[in-house]
Amino acid sequence: ASGIFSSANPSFLDRSFSSAASESNLIRATLFPGDGIGPEIAESVKQVFRVADVPIEWEEHFVGTEIDPRTQSFLTWESLESVRQNKVGLKGPMATPIGKGHRSLNLTLRKELNLYANVRPCYSLPGYKTKYDDVDLITIRENTEGEYSGLEHQVVRGVVESLKIITRSASLRVAEYAFHYAKAHGRQRVSAIHKANIMQKTDGLFLKCCREVAEKYPEIVYEEVVIDNCCMMLVKNPALFDVLVMPNLYGDIISDLCAGLIGGLGLTPSVNIGEGGIALAEAVHGSAPDIAGKNLANPTALLLSAVSMLRHLDLHDKADRIQDAVLKTIAEGKYRTGDLGGKSTTTEFTNAICDHI
Ligand code: NAD
Repeated sequence: ASGIFSSANPSFLDRSFSSAASESNLIRATLFPGDGIGPEIAESVKQVFRVADVPIEWEEHFVGTEIDPRTQSFLTWESLESVRQNKVGLKGPMATPIGKGHRSLNLTLRKELNLYANVRPCYSLPGYKTKYDDVDLITIRENTEGEYSGLEHQVVRGVVESLKIITRSASLRVAEYAFHYAKAHGRQRVSAIHKANIMQKTDGLFLKCCREVAEKYPEIVYEEVVIDNCCMMLVKNPALFDVLVMPNLYGDIISDLCAGLIGGLGLTPSVNIGEGGIALAEAVHGSAPDIAGKNLANPTALLLSAVSMLRHLDLHDKADRIQDAVLKTIAEGKYRTGDLGGKSTTTEFTNAICDHI
């Protein structure tokens, strides 16, 4: 498996933060259990952390029932302040109504906390067979603009307009993060994914910024791949790629495609990197309303996200123990959740992980 989560590669994240340790020497971290399956898988993380004796004190914040005018969403100002203070947190999935309703909670978090890069490692899990056994990719998604700028309106009846915003500053920032990440982790290649042949101005600017940054990293191979071709190449041979950097919407789609290559959304973690050293870890998947409340969810993605949070805090021993226990449980195959072809409940799977700690 990839060394992404191993202590041999401790600099997974920018660690220029200082965590807010309480008097009891516990490190305070914000926890958003989120919606749907969120509370069930957050419970798994809390249980595993307890068994592994992880020195974390969770500061739990729930999605509110009324819109907070300061955030224009159901997330309270206090919950955002908690992440700003602690600088580190774990987030469960948050549901967004389709086509109507309040401002997306995820967008609120990204905008308010300036979470500019979403980093999603995706690697084949030992002992869990898929079509490929050598996937080892990192997608780095620009997280604050593009089609997700929230600028949509009706021009006239029957005609709507959605604005895609690409700025030089955000593009340079995410490109810099991608190259820095590649260098720090001994990665060979950065591919910028785009559709600049059609979106000449927006994706054109994104590529220009990537090229500028690439010049500062002559040791890393830089290439540009059109998104449709990228999808085809990923499905045919994922080993063609290493680190992929891309605008917001493409990152959303490509990272789910990558999750599919290794066994699905239940397995893929991510971390949102923000200004000032903020790291908010989260699973790639959503609230899975079809299985919510049924004790069927796979907590692996949130657990591995929590592991990367521990690495960010330099708690590598704890991170290694938990990661090994998760991977061992999956590899043994006795306890697996339904998405991995097993029959175990979330609770049974979590208990099995705890037995391996
Ligand atoms: P989803 O990821 O919730 O579900 C897609 C499929 O994957 C479903 O069949 C689901 O059962 C399965 N799945 C997802 N996570 C799983 C897990 N841990 N274990 C087992 N199976 C799992 O995507 P969706 O249905 O398109 O979205 C549902 C809601 O989640 C929407 O409101 C959407 O806006 C929101 N969402 C939130 C985030 C986030 O908070 N970062 C991300 C994606 C979607």
